[in-house]
This record gives sequence, C-alpha cells and structure tokens, in this order.
Amino acid sequence: MKITSSVVLALLCCGVSSYATDELIVLKAARMFDGKSNSLVQNAVVVVKDDKIVDAGSNLQIPAGARVIDLGDATLCPGFMDAHTHLTEDFSGNYNERRLQELDLNVSEHAIRATEFARVTVEAGFTTVRDLGSHFVGSREFVDVALRNSINRRVIVGPRMLVATKGIGATGGHFDPTNGFRDFLFGREPDYTDGIANGPDEIRKAVRFEVKNGADVIKAAVSGGVLSLTDEVDTPQLTPAEMTALVDESHRLRKKVAVHCHGDQVAREAIEAGVDSIEHGSFMKPDTLAMMKKKGTFLTPTLMASEWIMGKIDNYPPALQAKAKAATAARSDMFRNAVKMGVRISFGTDAAVFPHGQNAKEFKLMVDLGMSPVDALKSATASDAELLGIAQKLGTLEKGKLADIIAVPGDPTTDITATERVLFVMKEGRVIRQGPSAAEKAEKTSSPDVSASAD
Ligand SMILES: [Zn+2]
Repeated sequence: MKITSSVVLALLCCGVSSYATDELIVLKAARMFDGKSNSLVQNAVVVVKDDKIVDAGSNLQIPAGARVIDLGDATLCPGFMDAHTHLTEDFSGNYNERRLQELDLNVSEHAIRATEFARVTVEAGFTTVRDLGSHFVGSREFVDVALRNSINRRVIVGPRMLVATKGIGATGGHFDPTNGFRDFLFGREPDYTDGIANGPDEIRKAVRFEVKNGADVIKAAVSGGVLSLTDEVDTPQLTPAEMTALVDESHRLRKKVAVHCHGDQVAREAIEAGVDSIEHGSFMKPDTLAMMKKKGTFLTPTLMASEWIMGKIDNYPPALQAKAKAATAARSDMFRNAVKMGVRISFGTDAAVFPHGQNAKEFKLMVDLGMSPVDALKSATASDAELLGIAQKLGTLEKGKLADIIAVPGDPTTDITATERVLFVMKEGRVIRQGPSAAEKAEKTSSPDVSASAD
C-alpha cells in the first residue's frame, strides 16, 4: 500500500511531465532574465502554446482561459545549457574503484544509471547539454546516442542532448580507453572504432565513423588530460596536420569541433586549425587568449571539474594528483585573463567528474573569478546556444523560441547561487518540475519508510 501510494504521489506531483495541449500556459514571476539584455525585466510574463513561446515581456495581458502558473518572487530564465557533460559516466568517487566498476558492470547497467543522471540534470534546470564523450573500455556501444534518442522519444526524462560519441584521440593519449592498462589486455590495440586515430586520413575516418553512428558534434583530445594515467597533462597529442583534417572533415559534415586541451602550445595550433571551442584551456597564456578572441573561438572553462578534484584529492592516484594540482594552479589566472580580454565564454562544467545535477555551482566559480552575474547567465543561455548551433530556436526568452523556461528564487544577479536552487523547469512547453525535485521528495519520504521496514 505504502509503495503504491508513493508511486501515485510521484506521478501526480512531478514524476511524469504534464502534456502540452492546445491550452495557453502563462508563466508569471517578479522578474525575468531574457538571455540577451543586461538588466532583468520586471513583472515578467511568458505565454506558452504547445512547445513554443508566443509572447514574453513585462506586465503583458493574460489571455482569457490561460492556465496561469505564478512563481512569485522568482526570476524566469531560458533553460540553462551545459556545453560539457558526460551523462553516461560518473568519475566522481574513488578513481580506482570507478575504474574497476567500468570493467565489472555490463554496459546496459551503465546505461540504466545514465537515465538517472539525465533526470537529475534536467531537474537542476539544464534543459540542453552538449555531451562530450562516452566510452566504456572493450565496448562498441553508443550509450550517449541511446540516451539522447530515448529522451527525444520521451521514453525517459532528461535534457536535450548533442552527443559526441567516443571522442577522437591519439594512441596512448587522454582518450585511449586502454591508457594505463597492461598491453593487449583487451585483445587488440584500439582503432578508429574506439576513436583512436593517427595521421590525417585516419582522423577523417574516425570523424566519418562517429557521424555515421550518430554524433552531433565532434570531440577530440588534442592535449593530455588530468584523469588519464600515462600521459602528461599539457603535451600535444595531435599534430597541426591532424587537427586541420579533424576540423575540415567535421565542418564539411556540418559538425562543430570541441577539443579537450590543457596545454598552451597545442591550444594555439588548435585555434589556428579552426576548432569551435577549447575545453578546459588551463595553461593558455594571454597571447593565446588574444588569438581566440580574434578568431571568435569559445572557451569552455569547466571550473567545477578542478574544484571537485582538488576537494577530493585523496580519491586519485599520486600521478593524477600532481597533474590536477598543476592544472588548477594555472586555470584561475587563465580564466580571469579570458574574462578581462573579452574571450567568448561558453558555460560548461565536465559533469561526471563531479556528481550530476550540481552543474549550476559553476556559476559562482565564474563570478568569484571576475565574471559579472549577467555575463555568467548569458554564457549558459545565449552563448551556449550560439556555440551549439541552436540559437535560432533556443537560448533566449523570445516569441517563436522553444519553451525551455526555468525559474530560480529571488534575483540571481544579486545572488548567483540562486541558480543552484531551481524551483521550476519547463522543456518544450512541458512542465518537468514545479517545486521539489523527485529526488528531494524521495529523500523526504524515505525516513518513515526505512523505519517501517525495520519494524
Ligand atoms: Zn570532459
């Protein structure tokens, strides 16, 4: 009985989206961040029909017969976007345990866990993510593609996903899934089907293979990384000729290119090759940032990743600790310089390095390092929409855009941490969350259930 009633409660309250119909829904709140203005709109009203915004502004007349959702002392915002997630993975615990688990669990079990990561992400207000790499050693499954498609078909609840599949990298590089394991443990050396490619022609083949299997965006590791065992964090891993091939082939197939890159030298080469965004960018010097500004290359800073790792440094092997410390020591100055110089900044967190659903903590880190709250909000809305190539339909609260609308309490321009307390989420006109999230509700109801079963 108890189980039945809590299931019914979950269904009624938030477990299932309310379905868009012909009815008009009017969202009201004390204020609104529209994604493009430098100040907030007061007495905000947004009118939604089906999956689209039909009007948005201050003190608009409420159409007769509309269903009004009055959110009170809150700020309406475009659904947040995160340009750097890994929704199919979780690297947030002890490194060695996680590595063993990757070998132990069936890939289908990883996929089932990912459905929960998707749900907590959208409930945290992130209605769109660019998911930059999903691979499980020894498996050829495309779990990110399956997750994206299941969300699009409304089989499960989650953010709209643009996925990169395996990611592309060099033998022994940050993306080599056998990096750190004994040679031949998995029976063969990884190849383009695992995203591992060497030389311009193989890089083109890997891009084509990933697009064939459902990639929306191409991700490559052009320098070493923190959470890989046998490479140095800032060394180049692709040559200029390989990066030129990567960008050319991807752009010919109308896919954008995001590159994992910590090192300064290879960042310059990647920017020169025409990549669309540099992910992390920890060691980039002011001259390199100046090149980015000139070329219009986006920086996705992922401050949350280093913040989390440094807070749990004992969870990582000594070799990774040293890399994390070096990258974190460099990234704050790099980010401050990028803000000062006016480099285009795309909001992205590297969610999976820290637990999914905490994406909004990135906002405070950005503001603490010199970005204005409004610019931080723009990075997660209009700027990300531009980088992702979806600005025509998302990123601002304007007539004709898809109705991805969230609300945060109070005024996020005076307290940016309000973004961590999202209280309402609508995606394409469907209410996904109003009030506490499913997880918060489960937490509240779990204690009595535990004591009952103990009896
Ligand atoms: Zn990442």
